[in-house]
Amino acid sequence: MSTPYPHLFAPLELGFCTLPNRVLMGSMHTGLEDRASDFPKLAAYFAERARGGVGLMVTGGVSPNLRGWLKPFSGKLSWKSETHKHRIVTKAVHDAGGRICLQLLHAGRYGMHPFAVAPSKITAPISPITPHALSARAVERTIDAFARAARLAREAGYDGVEIMGSEGYLINEFLAPRTNHRRDDWGGDAAKRMRFAVETVRRTRAACGPDFILIFRLSMLELVEGGSSWEETIAQAQAVAAAGATILNTGIGWHEARVPTIATSVPRAAFAEVTARMKPHVKLPIVATNRINMPDVAEAILAGGGADMVSMARPLLADPDWCNKARSGRAQAINTCIACNQACLDHVFANKKASCLVNPRACAEAELNYVRTNAPRRIAVVGAGPAGMACATIAAQRGHRVSLFDAHAEIGGQFNLARQIPGKEEFNETLRYYRHRLAEERVEVRLGRKVAAADLDGFDAVVIATGVVPRAVDFPGHEHAKVLGYLDLLTRRVVPGRKVAIIGAGGIGFDVAEFLVQDGISATLEAPRWRAEWGVDLEQHARGGLAPPQVDPPARDIWLLQRSPGRPGAKLARTTGWIHRAALKAKSVKMVGGVEYLGVDDAGLRIRVERSEQVLDVDHVVICAGQESLRELEKPLRDTGREVHVIGGADVAAELDAKRAIDQGCRLAARL
Ligand code: FAD
Ligand code: NAP
Ligand code: SF4
Repeated sequence: MSTPYPHLFAPLELGFCTLPNRVLMGSMHTGLEDRASDFPKLAAYFAERARGGVGLMVTGGVSPNLRGWLKPFSGKLSWKSETHKHRIVTKAVHDAGGRICLQLLHAGRYGMHPFAVAPSKITAPISPITPHALSARAVERTIDAFARAARLAREAGYDGVEIMGSEGYLINEFLAPRTNHRRDDWGGDAAKRMRFAVETVRRTRAACGPDFILIFRLSMLELVEGGSSWEETIAQAQAVAAAGATILNTGIGWHEARVPTIATSVPRAAFAEVTARMKPHVKLPIVATNRINMPDVAEAILAGGGADMVSMARPLLADPDWCNKARSGRAQAINTCIACNQACLDHVFANKKASCLVNPRACAEAELNYVRTNAPRRIAVVGAGPAGMACATIAAQRGHRVSLFDAHAEIGGQFNLARQIPGKEEFNETLRYYRHRLAEERVEVRLGRKVAAADLDGFDAVVIATGVVPRAVDFPGHEHAKVLGYLDLLTRRVVPGRKVAIIGAGGIGFDVAEFLVQDGISATLEAPRWRAEWGVDLEQHARGGLAPPQVDPPARDIWLLQRSPGRPGAKLARTTGWIHRAALKAKSVKMVGGVEYLGVDDAGLRIRVERSEQVLDVDHVVICAGQESLRELEKPLRDTGREVHVIGGADVAAELDAKRAIDQGCRLAARL
């Protein structure tokens, strides 16, 4: 079949097997790896992606021994009895025509348990646990544990293993002077520091034979002080290749690094150049990673000769059929990962099963299915925000006749506001996806008119997805000309002044601050400028590739305020909140908690903080004080005895996000 992406869909010859294309589904913990009872779900998850045409998949991390656990009782493979459950996964993948490697990950000092070990007794800045330093004998035992686990993986039917040597886990801790202060044969100079990695590869290869895929994930840009130098990294790559690695995967940044590496505000393929710089130094196939989410991005990397494969993890969570769609020239139909982390990494860090904001079926393949209905009905969905778009497309996919209404001239609801925020450009992709899906499923889309109950006669069921309205405030002066709503700003109805106070420091308050401090083109769309702002030096003049950040001055003076005591932004998401706080701090935004709003007048915003009153001399005050449900259609419709469902923000406004809105829309549509 001809394809618009010939490099991406060219086979890759590994000597003893041929991969059908250049897509590696990167390792991603789903929360289904730890209990045997979850393995049938894990099998369904991987099988769906194998059917979707992925060249090679890698599981979430499994430790080679107890001390390598990520947390107590997390997935481990050191006994033969532990292989049985893995057979469910490998059989399902092979039956679906795919290939899968098991990732062997020893957590090292990132292990959240009292048995955690490391090369040296040094606590990670992101962990409360001080690791035990491994004795020389324990080092040997740990290497043997890797080799044994790999042999067991082969017995369990895996096509190979990925040895996790990056991201600041144990092997990476041996490689870097930051964490390896040993003075024996396993530490000291660069050659001794890399012995652990090289021996692990050598013994794993010896244990598994020549016809078994061995991926080594090497940290190629550490983004921490005291990381490996670039010359050392090249030597490490060459040594693991010589020791028997089949494929070299790229790792970017340690978990403790203070540079974002996969968030939505990171430019697409922002780090692919690191892999390209390594490529001439090695002969084995090499994989580029991080923020590669669409086929044109992947194709450009491969066509430019910068890598032999691309790794994508979250994009395949978002769309299991990504490869089939890309290969057949249907990129417009891809449900693109927007790199929000909201349902994947944030869930995993909260010990919850992973899923995906744009695809609630991810990791729920065995339970959430969109089966064709035997009783098609006429369904009206009012509101074309995320909840309404999701509900309308799935209901139509199941065979219902669906009409989708919105008062605005465009579909998308609040996503049309979110996409205005610098760093949230990916939200455009979700709108493109839904535009395509609505047309594909022949949903009748009626835009530009506010719907009343009387307009909905003739429908068998009505879904109210009318979202929210901003919460009003009532302090003195709230009607002053300086006071704006975030809608005024984000719809560009008002041009903001040079000094602005933001009332409310939730997700929208932070986004509005980002909107106000930047002018012109978003740094997310200009990778070199973004890297300069975060102090990323791809040429790695200093160990770890860090350089002094060069931040453009803020476009405006901003105060970001909240009534609650403490630091604004403390409730933002675990994996991305720190990025928002750091980005605004770099732009000198003044973030203040414990504020009492006394009023707005010509002088500005009067506030009281810790019993002291002050006037913020601002041109505008933007209200971002949360939202309330808009469900005025519900009562009149219910009064007619009609079948009515309420979803998304219209249902509950508190703690609403697109994850819940889309999830509710899909789950309702699955049972309509
Ligand atoms: P909405 O998106 O509010 O859509 C409701 C729709 O109903 C609107 O289009 C409206 O015009 C229409 N409507 C209302 N009444 C009628 C009527 N009578 N007739 C016809 N049409 C009607 N969420 C996240 O998860 N992650 C983020 O990073 C994120 N960032 C955000 C950034 C900003 C700046 C904003 C404003 C929001 C952000 N959100 C984010 C929140 C997210 O967009 C909302 O949670 C989500 O849009 C709610 O979806 P919904 O479908 O319930 O409602
Ligand atoms: P929010 O997160 O509930 O924040 C509302 C803010 O307004 C709080 O800081 C609150 O703090 C303040 N507030 C509440 N009532 C007030 C009042 N009467 N007067 C003055 N201040 C008041 O809501 P949001 O920022 O509007 O966001 C809406 C939803 O969108 C959120 O649930 C969020 O999940 C989602 N969203 C997510 C992201 C993301 O990146 N994941 C981004 C944007 C939005 P005090 O009470 O302390 O003053
Ligand atoms: Fe991507 Fe967000 Fe889905 Fe995670 S939750 S896979 S980041 S779209």
